Amino acid sequence: MGITLTKTQKQRLRELGADASMDGKIFSSIQERDASFKTMEKELIEKEKQRLQNLLNHHRRPAICQIEEILINKLVEEGFVQVVTPIIITKGFLEKMSITAKHSLVDQVFWLNKNKCLRPMLAPNLYYLLKRLVRLWKKPIRIFEVGPCFRKDSKGSQHLNEFTMLNLVELGLPPESRLERLKELVSLLMGTVGINEYQLVSESSEVYGETMDVMTDDIELCSTAMGSHPLDDAWGIVDSWVGLGFGLERLVMVKQGYQNIQRAGRSLIYLDGVRLNI
Ligand code: ATP
Ligand code: MG
Repeated sequence: MGITLTKTQKQRLRELGADASMDGKIFSSIQERDASFKTMEKELIEKEKQRLQNLLNHHRRPAICQIEEILINKLVEEGFVQVVTPIIITKGFLEKMSITAKHSLVDQVFWLNKNKCLRPMLAPNLYYLLKRLVRLWKKPIRIFEVGPCFRKDSKGSQHLNEFTMLNLVELGLPPESRLERLKELVSLLMGTVGINEYQLVSESSEVYGETMDVMTDDIELCSTAMGSHPLDDAWGIVDSWVGLGFGLERLVMVKQGYQNIQRAGRSLIYLDGVRLNI
């Protein structure tokens, strides 16, 4: 059996942003392996220090903030209005989304007390606003929110307990144009972020029934939904709509080629994806 990097060495290189190709490297002796590890570690550290230097001297905002900004600008240009709603929501709002005892998402909710929780999604707040805006604005109504969501998700490299969702909805469009509009919005936003390779995959969601997901290399970047929908009744919505929910950390992960979403999220260990113990 050939000599490969030790678990600790692999872990260290991964933290420093090495790609998966190092996993299969074979060495003829332990000395050769350790020397090679040292060289790789040194090179990666140099690269990471350079990235921190670029952050300091040039862009000064982490990738996640930049992606958020360009998406917001694009949506506003496209006629969408940004909304900012509470992060703390009620149990009643979750129930109106059909997230009750039988639903798997209910175990992922961070409860603050019997009746209040940290929102696991933006949709209930957007539903609530739409009902009010329908009476005030001409259709189609286009709104979006971007902000923190919380789920006790600990399924490894693609899930964070706190992440940033971008949720947009367009309500009051002809039902027959929904699918085309959904695809148009996906293409607009993915193009804006600069991810041009993605697949649209049909999915069935516990909350929304049949939906379409936007995937890159088995990573779900976005889930979409269309209404009229069985949940609409509870919120007093009668018009047709399309909705998209993107995870911004997942977009950063794919864009930057990160193996682990931790590098893209809120962190004390990483700054803009660069490990600080270098
Ligand atoms: P997954 O199946 O990957 O757990 P989901 O289908 O439960 O995701 P949605 O409810 O569709 O997630 O949320 C919309 C988007 O939010 C997802 O496509 C993903 O990009 C992002 N997202 C969801 N949960 C998380 C999480 N725990 N950490 C980071 N991003 C997330
Ligand atoms: Mg989904």
